[in-house]
Amino acid sequence: MCIVINKAAVVRLELRANPMKEDTIEITGFHAHVYFDTASRDTAARVRDSLGAKFDVRLGRWHDKLIGPHPKAMYQVAFLPDQFSKVVPWLMLNREGLDILIHPETGDDVKDHTDHSLWLGEKLELNIEFLQKLRIT
Ligand SMILES: [Zn+2]
Repeated sequence: MCIVINKAAVVRLELRANPMKEDTIEITGFHAHVYFDTASRDTAARVRDSLGAKFDVRLGRWHDKLIGPHPKAMYQVAFLPDQFSKVVPWLMLNREGLDILIHPETGDDVKDHTDHSLWLGEKLELNIEFLQKLRIT
């Protein structure tokens, strides 16, 4: 697998296992979902403030109630591929014990939240059924 970042800041993953197959996957952006509970909400706020101050990211709303496939309260941080190498290492060192899902946006929500996902901290059980239902409709 090789990763090439082109001028449009789009990451292309070429899976070279089967060169006969048309299998280029395009990543148009990434989400980091930062999970928290009542005890870790202040920590999550601190991490959020730092992300907003240091990086070119879009901070999503706080979701105290469960939403989509997410099993805990969380907020979303969206960023373009050219920010990945800045945002993710920073989160590795500064997540303060929070569990974080990082996933690409390739247009396939189910795969992006399962096979394509990256976790910092504990891997939580997502409601993938929720995404599979969206895929059908
Ligand atoms: Zn997401």
